[in-house]
Amino acid sequence: MSDKKSIELYVKPAGGWDALRSSWQALRDQQVVMKGAGTLLHANQPRGFDCPGCAWPDRNPHSTFEFCENGVKAVANEATSRRVTPAFFAQHTVAWLNEQDDRFLEAQGRLTEPMRYDAASDTYRPIAWTDAFATIANALDALASPDEAIFYTSGRTSNEAAFLYQLFVREYGTNNLPDCSNMCHEASGVALTEQLGSGKGSVTLEDFEQAQAIFIFGQNPGTNHPRMLGELRGAARRGCRIVAFNPLRERGLERFANPQSPADMLAGTSTQLASEYYQPRIGGDLAVATALCKVVIESGAVDHAFVEAHTHGYEDFAASVRATPWEALERESGLSRADLEQAGRTYLASDATIVCWGMGITQHPRSVATIQMLANLLLLRGNIGKPGAGPCPVRGHSNVQGDRTMGIYEQPSPAFLDRLGAAFDFAPPRTHGYDTVAAIEAMSDGRAKVFFAMGGNFAAATPDTARTHAALRRCDLTVHVSTKLNRSHLVHGRDALILPCLGRTEIDLQAAGLQAVTVEDSMSMVHLSSGMNPPASTLLMSEPAIVAHLAVAVLPRSRTPWLWLVEDYDRIRDRIAQVIDGFDDFNARVRTDGGFHLHHPGRERVFPTRSGKAGFFAHALDGRDAQADVLQLMTVRSHDQYNTTVYGMDDRYRGVHGLRRVVFISRADLERLDLRDGEHVDIASVWHDGERVVRDFRLVEYDIPAGCLAAYFPETNPLVPLDHHAERARTPASKSIPVRLRRSAA
Ligand code: SF4
Repeated sequence: MSDKKSIELYVKPAGGWDALRSSWQALRDQQVVMKGAGTLLHANQPRGFDCPGCAWPDRNPHSTFEFCENGVKAVANEATSRRVTPAFFAQHTVAWLNEQDDRFLEAQGRLTEPMRYDAASDTYRPIAWTDAFATIANALDALASPDEAIFYTSGRTSNEAAFLYQLFVREYGTNNLPDCSNMCHEASGVALTEQLGSGKGSVTLEDFEQAQAIFIFGQNPGTNHPRMLGELRGAARRGCRIVAFNPLRERGLERFANPQSPADMLAGTSTQLASEYYQPRIGGDLAVATALCKVVIESGAVDHAFVEAHTHGYEDFAASVRATPWEALERESGLSRADLEQAGRTYLASDATIVCWGMGITQHPRSVATIQMLANLLLLRGNIGKPGAGPCPVRGHSNVQGDRTMGIYEQPSPAFLDRLGAAFDFAPPRTHGYDTVAAIEAMSDGRAKVFFAMGGNFAAATPDTARTHAALRRCDLTVHVSTKLNRSHLVHGRDALILPCLGRTEIDLQAAGLQAVTVEDSMSMVHLSSGMNPPASTLLMSEPAIVAHLAVAVLPRSRTPWLWLVEDYDRIRDRIAQVIDGFDDFNARVRTDGGFHLHHPGRERVFPTRSGKAGFFAHALDGRDAQADVLQLMTVRSHDQYNTTVYGMDDRYRGVHGLRRVVFISRADLERLDLRDGEHVDIASVWHDGERVVRDFRLVEYDIPAGCLAAYFPETNPLVPLDHHAERARTPASKSIPVRLRRSAA
């Protein structure tokens, strides 16, 4: 683990030998070279485990090495030989631990047994599982209403655990089920459900082999979904046009050397991915998508047969686009008319186009409008419900889509609650619950007093850090189900518990024998995952078992056979099949190689919307003028990071080594603001309720449009005001934060 601090331009393609070196280093850092290598051979394999990293689907048939560099980091950190034992906690006060950075906390290893916070010593002390569950039951019993409790879910939670968890929470009496979807693709769900009748993408991996063009907006696959580069490489090599829109120049969108290709590795060859790369300004994607629609409409090449048969609202939409002047589209997108028309021509030249997007689209105030404009673009040319075409929101966490499918949602549909109530013989609560932003508000003002998190790192992942931390500390009890030590354990309520669970790579033995769980990837493939390593400690419990024992402690009069269900997870899956659409015969279908695809009606050009048709939605441009001294900041991940998990201090593709408090800025803004590359600044966000400041960031000159900045989270999450979120979806707008720069005090 070298901490050489430097900024050096990276000239190599993504992947290649450096990806192998970094993977090897990750295994060495966690002292699991042999164990890790053996474990990786089971990663994303039919009878193996699902990588605890991102939600990118697995190829079928599978290759032997079905993992990427960042998958190696995720697996190495889970299989690590390091342990966070009671002795570790006894030696380190929470106050001291809270002074350490996120990389340090992550590097301490796996939790080994349940721990309870002891205020007198400011340390965590061991507690027996039964006492831990009793403590939670007492705290929940003491509440005036179940709505004073919040039950958060991170996207790593398996389908079986998520289904039992939502059932437990609803039997307890609330819909307060915020999840990490609220902070990532909520806007995709809101936009697509209204427009197409399903909040999910309709594309499968096979479509990437048939697409004639792939448009990628606000996504950095080289770091966040690295195996996607394999699909893009295959597509580019067969002549598919790849068009990227991203304010930052990302190596993973430019060039890729496939570590699994002998030619690339021995001959040093690589493949150019994006044939066109455009750098709109932050928040300019709505104007970009509108401009592309304008090119199509004004070219006369609209697929009118599809539009008439399958959509509504075209005429009003087309009129609003025709009326949008090019001058406004150029100003708001930050791109020239020539560039926008070129990208439009590339779109028109394709009869089968996939549109992909990530957080660079969803974490903005107008994200729902932007996503609907991207879907408008697809509808204009009938690019849905045919091979090689469709919307492809690329999800982050490995089972974030599955959790939502299982009912982890603060706004459940009446039909879902009817089926759940009928299957488990109880009356589910009907009042919608808190999403992530509302949960923080409720803890802030005391309406919520107990916070329970199934995985994740809420204190680091959320916006408005100072306010969120104060809200968590105001709770009577905070509980975290986790595999490793993280910030959220240190930002705790008056009472606090850490409940350590099994990891994806570990053997899950229940009364009926070895158990497998299921996950749903970003393209709606549901498949099995079972671990093969001995658990990191004999005192760990599986997530489903934790929920079952908790439910028994909290709901003594429940008629649900909780402990019987977790003896054999097939029993949970049978209940899922009873309640959730598309899971008939679940246990048999999921045992086929690779699992099964959850039906997406759009693939048959069926759009279960209010009108029964896909809808065109017009959205006006912002028309706002930027203040000269206010720049737009987007939070990003480094290459050695997965969500808030910091594996290392390097960001190889952007040339950053050993540093995290850096801010990427254009040469034009350095000159305009009379600042120097390498100089240190404070970043202050500009908001109606005052300033939020993060200090001492090193300026790094980078290829980014003028007026735009980028810096890593969670370090810049303190700058994101809680009420700065997407319209309708309430996704924190972490990708467009208005800020000013000031020289740091020496
Ligand atoms: S692409 Fe994602 S799911 Fe696949 S190995 Fe890499 S991190 Fe894991």
